[in-house]
Amino acid sequence: MNAPLPKAPINWVAVFALVFLPIVAIIAIPLYAYHHDFSLAAWISMFVLLGVSSLGITAGYHRLWAHRAYEATLPLKIILMIMGTFAVQNSILFWASGHRTHHRHVDDVDKDPYSINNGFWYAHLGWMLRDYPAAEPNYKNAPDLLNDKLVMFQHKYYVPLVILVHVGILLPIGWAVGDIWGVLLLGGLMRLILSHHVTFFINSLCHMWGKRPYTDENTARDNFWLAIATWGEGYHNYHHIFQYDYRNGVKWWQYDPTKWLIWSCSKLGLAKNLRRIPSFNIKKAELAMKFKYAEQDLAVYGHNVNDDISSVKQRLAQEYEAFTHTLNDWAKLKEQEIQAKKSAVAEKIHQMDDKLKVEFQLVEQRLTHHRETLNILMRNLKKNPVSQ
Ligand SMILES: [Zn+2]
Ligand SMILES: [Zn+2]
Repeated sequence: MNAPLPKAPINWVAVFALVFLPIVAIIAIPLYAYHHDFSLAAWISMFVLLGVSSLGITAGYHRLWAHRAYEATLPLKIILMIMGTFAVQNSILFWASGHRTHHRHVDDVDKDPYSINNGFWYAHLGWMLRDYPAAEPNYKNAPDLLNDKLVMFQHKYYVPLVILVHVGILLPIGWAVGDIWGVLLLGGLMRLILSHHVTFFINSLCHMWGKRPYTDENTARDNFWLAIATWGEGYHNYHHIFQYDYRNGVKWWQYDPTKWLIWSCSKLGLAKNLRRIPSFNIKKAELAMKFKYAEQDLAVYGHNVNDDISSVKQRLAQEYEAFTHTLNDWAKLKEQEIQAKKSAVAEKIHQMDDKLKVEFQLVEQRLTHHRETLNILMRNLKKNPVSQ
């Protein structure tokens, strides 16, 4: 059981935005639909504007400002700032600073502003409804943002900007399609509630459901379904180990519209210096976890295993030894590179990187094969337990 959370004063602005507005929506939207019906354009506005505000958070607030995963030109920054303001999740400075604290103290019940260890509702919504000390803004971790004129402008004029952005986006659309109330209710109110919960899922469900292929040192999970709902942020296990990568779905086939948007912006000359973690480091983390999982599965059976399982166990151990050996060789070369900075070493590293790519592929293939054998053997063992 978690210790009860300290009582903190209620944050009435947050209660208005996150509790009162959804109640209004539940009453007003069906009533309006019953009496007037919504136009198709109003429905479309809801989906399009959901993308606009959500991507403002994922590509702007999160990957650009909180993590500096790429650089953006001023026009792109202004567009992302407007899109993010439209999502009504407090200022960039407040959001990004809190998010950096989340990464630094992930899962800590006292220091992580939205620690999942305080429960689903706390991580999803509760942390904002009261002024908890963990969620208090601490801008010490954001000197870069304190020096950013655009960020500080948005922070200073946040509330007028929120109103301006809503009037400037919703009214022209509503007027153009001839359904102002429809666009206000669906493109405005309903879209805002959906976009809020899409982001909140990243703090709650993405720390609960899914796999941990890169690290099990925190609760963050990779989940394809959540990636669909969250514009690519569902690959949260990868993100927590390699937070500076502009990609969350790091594999080319993983669904990450935010990564595609940033990449497209770079092709248009609006973004540059997209940061990518070297594939070697990614593969290393992934393989180390695969070994760890195989080990954990084997540990469950202790000595209560048959000869076939013992031999797979032995092969896995040999495989792991070879793997750490290769990693050590590579680390030594890297060390030499740092010390000597000689071109000969750089050339050697280059050759080794190529060799490692092939070797890692082979290790992974053999590991998959061992896993399959192990799974079959374990299934058999469950059916016919070995008597001691
Ligand atoms: Zn997280
Ligand atoms: Zn992050």
